[in-house]
Amino acid sequence: MLVAGNWKSNKSFNEAKEFANALTSMPPLPDGVEMMIAPPAPYLAALGSTPWAFRLGAQNVSATGPGAHTGEFTADMLQGCGVHDVIVGHSERREGYGDGDEVVAEKVNRVLEAGLRVVFCCGESLQDRQSDVHFDKVLRQMESAILHLPAEVMDRVVVAYEPIWAIGTGLTATAAQAQEMHAAIRGWLREAHDEDIAGAVPILYGGSCKPSNADELFACQDVDGGLIGGASLDSVMFREIVDAAGRAHAAQVEATSAA
Ligand code: PEP
Repeated sequence: MLVAGNWKSNKSFNEAKEFANALTSMPPLPDGVEMMIAPPAPYLAALGSTPWAFRLGAQNVSATGPGAHTGEFTADMLQGCGVHDVIVGHSERREGYGDGDEVVAEKVNRVLEAGLRVVFCCGESLQDRQSDVHFDKVLRQMESAILHLPAEVMDRVVVAYEPIWAIGTGLTATAAQAQEMHAAIRGWLREAHDEDIAGAVPILYGGSCKPSNADELFACQDVDGGLIGGASLDSVMFREIVDAAGRAHAAQVEATSAA
């Protein structure tokens, strides 16, 4: 299970350091759970020089390499700053900053070439869901960014299913809605790659996930953790979600050993 926090453009540098210290001084992580925090980019180099209890994530990366690209930062630069994971394809970047499918696919390539892990976001709008094209929409996003990847990099791919209508709205997909989309993504990975890869790629749910709904969402067979926005800004709340992932993992282990 992976619980990843996306802070977006929130927190001062001092608040970020306080949060990192608070999270790191909490009890050890539950078995089978990793944490990731993606703070704003200006904080990455400083945070990356200290070992924390969480993996350090970036919220964005350049689709280009080094050169005359004012304001951009490359995947290699992130790697050099101690970043482990990079979020690519978040709907806020797709909608507001011109990250179309081609740019997203290029960013995925750059992250993987730099030896980092990518958290690839996909998800449908409310209109897509109401028009019953949500599966097509999500699987087309997978096709455009993931289909061409060789098997040997797939152990550094995480998929985050984030229905856009649930992001920051307080609306959450029901466990059944999340599970059916996650199962479709898993099925797509099986067709595009194979059973082993499909079973190993973590598929996170994102969209108003919080302590009160995390247990139900994480109990779904194909939900392997969460990408958390608003609820990742509070270290205690975030840790409660991490503990929910720990309970889900323990239940899976118990079910497997009983089978
Ligand atoms: C997100 O932006 O990735 C997200 C899931 O946000 P929230 O948890 O606030 O809905």
